[in-house]
Amino acid sequence: MKMYINGEWVDRAETTPVVNPFDKSVIDTVPRGTAADVELAIGSAVRGAKAMAKLTSYERYAILHRAAELMGQRAEELGRTITLEEGKVITEGRGEVQRAIQTITISSEEAKRLHGETVPLDAAPGNVNEFGFTIRVPVGVVAAISPFNFPLNLVCHKVGPALAAGNSVVLKPAGDTPLSALKLVEILLEAGLPQDAIQCVTGPGSEIGDALTGDPRVRKITFTGSMEVGDRICRNAGIKKVTMELGSNSPLIVMSDADIEKVAAATVSGSFSNAGQVCISTQRVFADRRIYADFLDALIAPTEAFTTGNPMDESMRMGPMIRESDAARVGQWIGEAVDQGARIVAGGDWEGTLHSPTIVADATADMRISREELFGPAVAVSAFEDIDEAINMANDSRFGLSAGIFTQNIDWAMRFAKEVESGNLHINSSPQWRADLMPYGGLKDSGMGKEGPAYAVQEMTELKMVVFH
Ligand code: NAP
Repeated sequence: MKMYINGEWVDRAETTPVVNPFDKSVIDTVPRGTAADVELAIGSAVRGAKAMAKLTSYERYAILHRAAELMGQRAEELGRTITLEEGKVITEGRGEVQRAIQTITISSEEAKRLHGETVPLDAAPGNVNEFGFTIRVPVGVVAAISPFNFPLNLVCHKVGPALAAGNSVVLKPAGDTPLSALKLVEILLEAGLPQDAIQCVTGPGSEIGDALTGDPRVRKITFTGSMEVGDRICRNAGIKKVTMELGSNSPLIVMSDADIEKVAAATVSGSFSNAGQVCISTQRVFADRRIYADFLDALIAPTEAFTTGNPMDESMRMGPMIRESDAARVGQWIGEAVDQGARIVAGGDWEGTLHSPTIVADATADMRISREELFGPAVAVSAFEDIDEAINMANDSRFGLSAGIFTQNIDWAMRFAKEVESGNLHINSSPQWRADLMPYGGLKDSGMGKEGPAYAVQEMTELKMVVFH
């Protein structure tokens, strides 16, 4: 496909192949954009921001609403594109499209809800004749940088609210998965978006990222990706608004009163969907010592039943990882854990980009599979003595994006909600759960700011205070 900048679809002499991670076939190519393309895109986006600011709330609503309808008409094509470029199984690819349609629909509704409020200035001593109110205005140009793992829905979580709020967007999709984003741009233009209001620059983030994030005409950066890249972007950004949706190694606590079979099923789906390449994948599981052995036994059957192979095959539950080096890294971290005293109770092998769903028991906090973000299909299980120890283990992480507990005890559930350091807290679910309308974002090194259209539009607008004297 071509990339879309400066109001037109353009090619470049140098291109990058988009590769199917399962069989390594080349699906398509995209231009290898440069810093000069970023410059063109930002110049056009400045004009796009002016065009967007002239649209009424209703017009912005109508464009996004129409885009959601068009996505529905192209749903099967979009689902297949996601699976081909990213590798998640086709049922998950189709599921992502349905979520993305919701994200754009909810964003369209938020276009109608942006408003300020009156401020009771006479509540300050001596103020008698002042009348004050706030208005929300678009920031202008939003830079949206997205990761590979949800190449459509996470792009919609940025582009939808940014357009709903009346901004223009310069989109930089992940190098591995640019096609879903480019198709979304086609749809937005067909839906009637002003031609300069969206830009999509394809090219390596390491080469073109600084030109985008450091430009003072960009007033807001919304980034989803790794902690390391997020850190670099924050340092390069200067004075502008930033939202950082970063990684995690999400904990799940299994108390002694939990239904073990139910928790085992939830652990497996919460750890292995999208081959574990989900920012809120269940990575660290802490089970009460009294049920620890039974829980490990219960994990084996559902893990071994998790079929792995060609993601286009409707019977598969898990596809490949994005790159061979990632499957090898997961294998290496598991090997290290075994050398340090852990044991594999299911799975453990890999070939090419396929890594089998794996349960590692007796993990300790110093192992890499516990400390770092694994972002792969393995889960590290360990035992605790009581709720105090479980909460301490959950909090022994520099991340804090999502956490879960299984219990029927309301006191334990409340302690979990109050004391676990995490942006999202799930009682009787694995941490891997998200409704696209809810506020979503991490604490600690998992980032700052919230997504979810109602919350993202706040972060993509400025609040102005107006006072009549
Ligand atoms: P990544 O390597 O950090 O890349 C993310 C994006 O940043 C890509 O578009 C990448 O471009 C771009 N980039 C790279 N270097 C850059 C630079 N110097 N300046 C600006 N942009 C730059 O992450 P990933 O491997 O795609 O995704 C996995 C990570 O995303 C995991 O850590 C995961 O937890 C996180 N994630 C978080 C959430 C959340 O909501 N919190 C959701 C999903 C994923 P290239 O692809 O061209 O390098």
